[in-house]
Formats: sequence, C-alpha cells, structure tokens
Amino acid sequence: MSSVSHLFLAFLCLIPSIFGQVTEFISIDCGGTGNYTDRRTGLAWISDAGVIGEKGISVRVGDVYGNAPQYQTRRDFPTDGKKYCYTLPTEERRRYIVRATFLYGTSMTGGTYPKFQLYLDATKWSTVTVMEASRVYVKEMIIRAPSHSIDVCLCCATTGSPFISTLEMRPLNLSMYATDYEDDFYLKVAERVNFGAPSQEAIRYPDDPYDRIWESDLERRPNFLVGVATGTERINTTRNIDVNTREYPPVKVMQTAVVGTKGSLTYRLNLEDFPANARAYAYFAEIEDLGVNETRKFKMEQPYMPDYSNAVVNIAENANGSYTLYEPSYMNVSLDFVLSFSFVKTRDSTRGPLLNAMEISRYVEIAAKTDEQDVRSLNALRSMSMQSPWTEEAGDPCIPTNWEWVTCSSTAPPRITKILLSGKKVTGEIPRELNNMEALTELWLDGNSLNWTIPDMSNLVNLKILHLENNQLTGSLPPFLGSLPYLQELHIQNNSLSGEIPPSLLRGNLTFSYEGNPHLRRVKRTRNKLVLGTSIGVLAVLFVLSISSILLLCRSRSKTSLQRKEKGNSWRMNTKPLNAHSIARGGSIMEEGVAYYIPLPDIEEATNGFSRKIGKGSFGPVYYGKMKDGKEVAVKIMADSSSHGTKQFITEVALLSRIHHRNLVPLIGYCEEEHQRMLVYEYMHNGTLRDHIHDPDNQKHLDWLARLRIAEDAAKGLEYLHTGCNPSIIHRDVKTSNILLDINMRAKVSDFGLSRQAEEDLTHISSVARGTVGYLDPEYYANQQLTEKSDVYSFGVVLLELISGRKPVSTEEYGSDWSIVHWARSLIRKGDVISIIDPTLVGSVKVESVWRIAEVAIQCVEQHSFSRPRMQEIILAIQDAIKIEKGTDKLDSSGSSKAQSSRKTLLTSFLDIQSPDLSNGSLVPSAR
Ligand code: ATP
Repeated sequence: MSSVSHLFLAFLCLIPSIFGQVTEFISIDCGGTGNYTDRRTGLAWISDAGVIGEKGISVRVGDVYGNAPQYQTRRDFPTDGKKYCYTLPTEERRRYIVRATFLYGTSMTGGTYPKFQLYLDATKWSTVTVMEASRVYVKEMIIRAPSHSIDVCLCCATTGSPFISTLEMRPLNLSMYATDYEDDFYLKVAERVNFGAPSQEAIRYPDDPYDRIWESDLERRPNFLVGVATGTERINTTRNIDVNTREYPPVKVMQTAVVGTKGSLTYRLNLEDFPANARAYAYFAEIEDLGVNETRKFKMEQPYMPDYSNAVVNIAENANGSYTLYEPSYMNVSLDFVLSFSFVKTRDSTRGPLLNAMEISRYVEIAAKTDEQDVRSLNALRSMSMQSPWTEEAGDPCIPTNWEWVTCSSTAPPRITKILLSGKKVTGEIPRELNNMEALTELWLDGNSLNWTIPDMSNLVNLKILHLENNQLTGSLPPFLGSLPYLQELHIQNNSLSGEIPPSLLRGNLTFSYEGNPHLRRVKRTRNKLVLGTSIGVLAVLFVLSISSILLLCRSRSKTSLQRKEKGNSWRMNTKPLNAHSIARGGSIMEEGVAYYIPLPDIEEATNGFSRKIGKGSFGPVYYGKMKDGKEVAVKIMADSSSHGTKQFITEVALLSRIHHRNLVPLIGYCEEEHQRMLVYEYMHNGTLRDHIHDPDNQKHLDWLARLRIAEDAAKGLEYLHTGCNPSIIHRDVKTSNILLDINMRAKVSDFGLSRQAEEDLTHISSVARGTVGYLDPEYYANQQLTEKSDVYSFGVVLLELISGRKPVSTEEYGSDWSIVHWARSLIRKGDVISIIDPTLVGSVKVESVWRIAEVAIQCVEQHSFSRPRMQEIILAIQDAIKIEKGTDKLDSSGSSKAQSSRKTLLTSFLDIQSPDLSNGSLVPSAR
C-alpha cells in the first residue's frame, strides 16, 4: 500500500475521535498547527498536517479576519506545475457540501495577488482570484459523492502561488439538494442570502445544522443587492417557523424577511461565473399576522419568464398557513451575470411582497476522471516502491495536470499512454493489472528490482516501446511479445530470462536488445520446421474432432426435436376446439404457447380427486395437481360459472394462451365440461408474495435484495402486459397475492381474471371499478377511465409493502390515514425514509437503495395518472436500487455510473422539482 493510502487511512481513523458530537463534519484548518474547537461555533478543527503531509508550507496570517482561529494561518504550495490535493473520505452517493476558503491576509505593496485553479476530482471548480488581502473568498460545491473519496486540488497558478485557508465537508440528508441532473452536474453555490438579517454576520452552524453559510443581506460588497426599491422594510419574529419542507433552512433565517411596503421588492446583484444554467430556490414564510381581510399576493416580474412570472404567490395559502415555509424552486433557469429581480404585489393584494431567503447555484458539468482500470494499474505500481515524491502524487493522474511519471491522452476519459519509471526503486513482480492499459504506447520499467516472470500483456496492442532491462526478471520470453502489432523497441537485457527467443521477435523492423541473459537462446531453424509440422498435425486433429462433434450435436438435436414433436402430438390428441372462441392453434405447449384442453378425468387424476386445496380466490378454490408427465400444476376452479359467462371464460383463456413471459404465470390448459370450468396453471412452489411479507408464520424471511429482485421480476411481467402485447393489457388487480414465487423464488404475475385488453375498456366506461381495496387507483375509482397507469398505482402500493412490510390498509397501523400510501407519503415528504423501512430490514440495507425505491413508489401513487412513471422507468429504478444494494454501481470507464446514466431520479416530481431539458435552458413553472 502506498504511503498516500496510509495517510488517508490514518486520517479516516482520526475523524471520529476529533469531531466529538458532529462526527461527520470535516473541518480542516490549512496550515494550522494543532487541533482545537472553535468556541463560537462549537466546530472542531484539525490541522491539515495529517492530510497533506509535508507538502507546501504553513504561513502565518494573524488576526486579519477578527480572531477566527481557522484564519490565523494558510498553506502555500510551490508554483511548480504540479497539483496539490487533499483527499477527503465520502460515503458513495451521499450528498455533501464541500467548501474551500481562501484568506490571503498578507497585503501586497508591489506585485499581484495569487490567481490559481481549484479542482474537485477532475472537475474544474473555480479560478481563485485574490483581489483583497483581508477578504475571505468562499468556494462551495454541492456534490453527490461519486465514490468513497474525493480530491480537492490546487494548481496552475498564473500569479503568485496556490494557497488555501480552510477545507470543510458537511454531509447532507439524503434528499436535500437532489437534482435531476446530478449524474452529470455538481451544484456550485453562487449566493445564499438571508433577507432582513439583524446584522452583517452570516448565519451558519449551529443555527444551521448542515452548516450552510447564509450571508446577511447587509453584507457590503460591490454590486451586491443594490437597486433596493423604496418602501423596503425589514421585519422579524421570534415565533417558531415550520421549516420541514425539503431543504430545511434554519428557523433563524426564516424568522427575518424584507417586505415591499410600497408594493414591490427589487434587487440587483452580480453572480460569479455566470451566465449559466442555475438552480434557484426562494424561501417564503409569512411572519406577519395578517388581518382577516388582508392578503399577501405577488408575482415575480423580473427576470421575466412567462411560466413563472404569471404564477401568483400567496405565501400563507401555498404553505398551508402562516409561520410555515413555502419553498418554490426553479430547477433550471438560465441567468445572466447581472441578476435583477423584482416581486410586485397583485392588484387585489392588501400587502406587498415578502422574501425571507434565496439560494442560487450554477450547474457545473462533472468531468470524466482518468480511466478507472488505468488508475488501478498505476496504484499497483506505486504500491511497489518505498515512499518517494513520485508515489506521493495525489488526485487524478491526468487532470488538471498529469503526474510527473505518466503521460495522458487528451480523450475523455483520459487514458495513460506512457509510464516512465526508469530507476525508481520499484521492487517485486510486474503487476498483472498493466494488461488493462490498452492505450499504453510506452512502458519504461528499466533499472528497477523487478523479479519473477514477465506477465501477460497481450492486451497492450498499442505498445511501441517496452523497457524492462536491468531488472531481475526470470522465466522465458512470452510469445505474445512477438504479436504486439506496433512494437518497435523491446529492451530486456541484463535480466535472468531463459529459454528460446520466439522467432517473431527476431524480425527486422524491431529493435530488440537481449544480451546479458545467460540462458536465453535463439531458436534453431530445423526445430522451427518441426514445431510448424507439429502445429499443423495438432490443427488437423482438432479439425477432425470438431467436425465429428458438430455432427454428433446435430444428431442429438434432431433427436430431441423429434421427441418433442411426439410429445406435442400426444397433447394434440386431447385438444378439443373451444367453439366460436377457439384458441387452439396446434403445436406443442412450450413451443407455440397454446393452452390445451385437458379432459376432466385427467384433471381429477392429477389432483387426486381435488384432495389438496392450496388457496381460494374470488373465482373459487385452487387445487394442487401433478400431471402424468410429472408437471406440477395449480387448478383454479370457477365456483360460480354462471357469473363468469362463457365469453368471459373464453376471453381469459384466449388472453392467457397468447401471453408468454418468464415473469407471468403460464397457463397450461383449460377444461370446460358440464358447467365446470377450470384453468390449469403452472404450480408456483413458493406461494404468494403476500404470504412472504405479511404471514407471521412464514419462515422464509425475505431480505431486501430478494425483495428487490421480486419487484424487478413483477415489474417486468407487468411491463410486458403493457407494452409487449398488442393491444396492450391492463392487469387491473395488481397486488401481493397476485405475485407468485416459483421454486427459485423468481416472481411471476398471476391472475388475469380481471385483466382486459386496454382497448376494450378505453372504448367504454364501465360502472364499477374493479380491483382490491388499498391498491385501487383513486383516479380510476373516481372516473372509471382505465389506463396502464392504474396498474402502476397498484404496483406503487406493492413497492411500499416491500419496503415497509406493512399491509396496504389498516386503521391499526395508520390510524385515521388508514392507508399505506398516505402514511408513507407524509414520512417520505419529510425526508424520513428510515421510519418506513421494515424493522426486520433495518441495519441490513443501504438506505440509498431504499430511497431509490421509495422515490419511485411515491411517484407511482401520485394522484394524477399523468404524473406516474411508466413500468419501464420503474424497472430502471429497481435495477438501480439493486446495483446500489449490491455495491456494483461503480463508475464505468466514461466516468459516469452505468446505473446513473440509465435513469433519472423520480423524487423530483412530488418534491416539486421541475425536470426541463437542461440543454435548451427551457423554463417550466414550479407548481405546488
Ligand atoms: P382474488 O381472486 O380475490 O384476486 P387471489 O389472487 O388470492 O384473490 P387466486 O388467484 O384464485 O385468488 O388464488 C388463490 C390462492 O391460490 C392464491 O392466494 C395462492 O395461494 C394459490 N395459487 C393460485 N395460483 C397458484 C399457482 N399457480 N401456484 C401456486 N399457488 C397458487
């Protein structure tokens, strides 16, 4: 392990012990000499010496910024073309505020202040340009951690040398600051303003438990909140404000506001690094007691955006009461460098507009990091040497500047094209991982202490130059060396290699030096011929062997198909046409998927005279049976044939016989005799999902991954009904008792008794909504209009059952809410997913994967069907959750997660986040 990793691990161990109560905050005092707690904030700071090691120098700044202890020093780094990085531990996929601050402190008489670059991993974060010595420059990024650590790097000074004063990291609660674009964009905070602030001092921890910095609107800096309308007054309250919305701003910030007593509120300010696409949040809380006939209604007049500007804000109404936060968001607006904004009261409003706070962040595209496999290989090489400057280089190997000993391609993601480690005291075996570095053109490992054999590097098809001389390599020269198509130079002299030199290495166009290997020999020509002769012989034998095995295979195949045909014919003998609604099309069951007529005596024999009843549904009892060929079946008897007319029966059989999917319970046959109607299904050994979740006697406990797999299977079955059938089919009774589990615990959707083709129902409105209480789509119940989205609603309920282990309806469990939907929705809205997790799962699940399902479940049970996702989207969300749970949702070579790239978070809709196309800067109103 390299010393960098040692340092990192030591740092990880350090954190909990240092931070006491707020164990997850990381506050690094750069250049600081020791660890301490800032008494004013209660925040514990650590010196960066344990993080950055010997790099850079600590510079004393003194009391330039009051007596804040963290600004007494800064760390300066050399101006040497290298980057200097702090590696911080993160929890993969958790959201964090990452904040770096810069206080130069030393006044310059001549010369210029420093100007340099700040990077977060491979993403350019900011150009730090110091203009005033005594100002603290704050750079803040909100990220969803891409892996288990991030690198904050400084480099590329154009004037002065790079420096840093503090580095802080604050974890956020799971859904805070989620955006639809977080797979590809970070959020760089431009402004976070507290209006009506009592003083110039910013509000942060402990008033804000997430330690966001809320700047005072009294803060003085050029072009900050100028152009204030006359009649603007500052108001405040000491009453508590309900801030339990999405971003949980501090109550203290919401307790103050500005009011446009003359009817308008206007401001102008500069936004650093704009124009850009931004996420803008406004925070409104009515903190004045309005009279009975008084109203506060206003519109945003500037910037004028038709969709937003026509919407009337009525805070108390939007927030459902006074002293409660209303938090409209604009998830993708394109804003200019100069932002002028104004809120103007409507004509019928008695009070002027009010504003408590606002937050504006710009989207910063996440840059692709160097190919993961390449990085792994480089790390393997680093771990083979004692600590030295080259092993200490941190951050991404290529971006923004490359490590001294590597050369990178300019592709995205970058690849390593050259490794130069001549005479670097590398000891041990050449790492096998090098074989993954396909872009490598030059590999210089000469003059080290490499031993053992030359490993397989046959994938390095771009390799031109290979230096392995002056090591202690042993074994023979591997033949792949002769097959590397672009190899121009191969140097292996002065090793202990042995055996014969492959003839392909002795070709004219290869510079090949191999002296100093006493046991290495050139191949004799005669032997060459022998080898060739033997190879031809072996090839001939192989050829004969493969021809005969192909012939054998064909014979056995034709035999099997013959057997199958015979079996099909034996079934066909029993096939009896179903009058006008005939569905039998001939052929064998498995091959063409036709439901077969099975005579009653056969069924009686199979069920042993209907002796084992396995269940009862609305159709009637269900019996276990075993057919003559050993196939286990479930025989569903329609108890009251009169209520299910021939047509309905035929419809069901016709429908079922047409549908074949691995996640749908297959219909094997049917029987219609003497007013007895039966459907014969494949037997599902593990019963219903309902029994597994809700039956207290069921011993087979389903862990979260098993539940996710079941959800995925069932979703695929439904998706097939919706999109794989023409016309599409709506199940109409999706519930846990209609999801059956086969012997391998794979789920299949059953019971098409209530299914109908979508087109049939779209042509008329039936008088009674079908389905099961607790699962029934309220929209369908209200207006009888049936669409696939009704199944989506019911499936959302199933997902909530899977998360919580609770029943869909129960006054005992949910009180007056009575339904799982209301109960789960109110908790999830508060960002509290933990409270809905099945107690038997708590502690053994990754909360983020539960979130993924909770998000999509809540979207499924949206009141309006148009807001619900399609089954396809649900499948993607479930697959995403599986990857998260299994921990396989790693970055691919392009730097983005495969799971991420195939999905968008669905949390946004119910949390009132808009999802417009970021690329065209379109604007869609935020409706609450
Ligand atoms: P409803 O008819 O009201 O929707 P249901 O879905 O439970 O209720 P059925 O589909 O008739 O009704 O099934 C009744 C029970 O029979 C199921 O709960 C299950 O236990 C059992 N069952 C049904 N089909 C099979 C099958 N293919 N394999 C094993 N058991 C089955």
